[in-house]
Amino acid sequence: MTVLVIAEHDRGEVPIATFEALTAARTLAASMDDTVEVVALGDESAQIAPDLALHGAEVVHTIMSPVLSDYGPEAYAEAVVALVNAISPSAVVASGTSRGNEVLAGVAARLDVAFAANVVAAEKSAGGFSVTRQQWGGSLLEDVDLDARVAVLSFAHHSIEPTEAPAAGTVSTFNVDLPDELARTVIKDRTVTSAGVTLATAPVVVSGGRGMGNAEAFAMLEELAELLGGRVGCSRAVTNNGWRNHSDQVGQTGTRIAPEVYLACGISGATQHWVGAMGSKNVIAINTDAEANLVTKAGHAVIADLHEIVPAIIEEVKKRQG
Ligand SMILES: Cc1cc2nc3c(=O)[nH]c(=O)nc-3n(C[C@H](O)[C@H](O)[C@H](O)COP(=O)(O)OP(=O)(O)OC[C@H]3O[C@@H](n4cnc5c(N)ncnc54)[C@H](O)[C@@H]3O)c2cc1C
Repeated sequence: MTVLVIAEHDRGEVPIATFEALTAARTLAASMDDTVEVVALGDESAQIAPDLALHGAEVVHTIMSPVLSDYGPEAYAEAVVALVNAISPSAVVASGTSRGNEVLAGVAARLDVAFAANVVAAEKSAGGFSVTRQQWGGSLLEDVDLDARVAVLSFAHHSIEPTEAPAAGTVSTFNVDLPDELARTVIKDRTVTSAGVTLATAPVVVSGGRGMGNAEAFAMLEELAELLGGRVGCSRAVTNNGWRNHSDQVGQTGTRIAPEVYLACGISGATQHWVGAMGSKNVIAINTDAEANLVTKAGHAVIADLHEIVPAIIEEVKKRQG
């Protein structure tokens, strides 16, 4: 049998989240002696096949239709279900992004099976599948028995390190008639709000909290982030104060990040903030309070006034960068 992964792409660009899902799917498939196949929908689906093959797709099923030319959850779910009925996979998985969860909810409803979202581990069990999934924004892990003929799972974004495992990536066209009425969600206009590196994908995030004191103080974080090729983030105290836009907020009700380096300046590290930053590979905290939660989580901490330390770091980075 096979584990079927739903690939996300935006006009032919595949997000890291899909490679995370493929990596998790390989582990699940290996535990059942299954293969990994991928379904890619929309006009550019054939062109992303090499990327998917590099991450373990033995077969890439491409589905094209006028109603799939842009993302629409109803049409996507209908198309995936048609393929599921044709190839009978043991599991259908995607990344736990808003799109991944939206499509899988539609798939599970149409197949009349359970759906487990934001899973971090899954394996076959006697009665179906045993899965561990995140709850409460990732601060709680829950073990669940999934009693289903086919497991419908989304894997929590940033919980799996994507790795490559080259496979055949044979492209197979799947034809399905999708009625025009399925195009209930039609994208009329798109505005790119952040050019280049985004908060979610930045290798370095320099974040400020209430300890910054005011909006103007963020200028030094902007300068440091630019020197390091990163982005500025912030806590909810900052967005509540109107110092930064919500698009910069890290956390449960903001953006989940997983940078190589997370530099948190004047942030206490409340659970709701930490769940958005805990995927960071290296955490550095600058805080006057040695007992602050974020200081206890950080690999390195500077217990001092950020208004002295951040300018000193900028100075040092400039010196080293010549
Ligand atoms: C439902 C819900 C959802 C939430 N979602 C989010 C979310 O997505 N993201 C989020 O961030 N929060 C979220 N929160 C809010 C969260 O609980 C905290 O209130 C918030 O994260 C606190 O922000 P902060 O760390 O900047 O401020 P504080 O907790 O006030 O911490 C400020 C820190 O700055 C330090 N400091 C002060 N002055 C200096 C200085 N000069 N130099 C160095 N350090 C200094 C202090 O020691 C302190 O540790 C949510 C809350 C709820 C109830």
